[in-house]
Amino acid sequence: MNAAATTHTNCLRCGRTLRNPTPDGYGPKCRTKVRKAAVDLADYKAHQVTSARELIEDGAIIPLRSVVFIAVSTDGTETYRTAPTACTCKAGLKGSRCYHQLAARMLLAA
Ligand SMILES: [Zn+2]
Ligand SMILES: [Zn+2]
Repeated sequence: MNAAATTHTNCLRCGRTLRNPTPDGYGPKCRTKVRKAAVDLADYKAHQVTSARELIEDGAIIPLRSVVFIAVSTDGTETYRTAPTACTCKAGLKGSRCYHQLAARMLLAA
């Protein structure tokens, strides 16, 4: 199953019913907030920030519960469990800061 292909009928951030279901699962106002969310990016490289934003815009990271998200790999074949300080992708398991974690932080800061 490709989590990114799910069509959301409720906003992932505020839970309101979406009049027009959106692929990324956010209502227009919440999407704006998510994209503008202020996160400390000092620990991340520019390409990681870009990847994290793309992940969010593509709807490839979705909330699972409280601070845990499901992130879809770039090629769509794998999913990872992602939290702001941990991730089950290869980099995350080695203790590196991956862009999945950054995306989770951005979503939680919104
Ligand atoms: Zn909303
Ligand atoms: Zn990761």
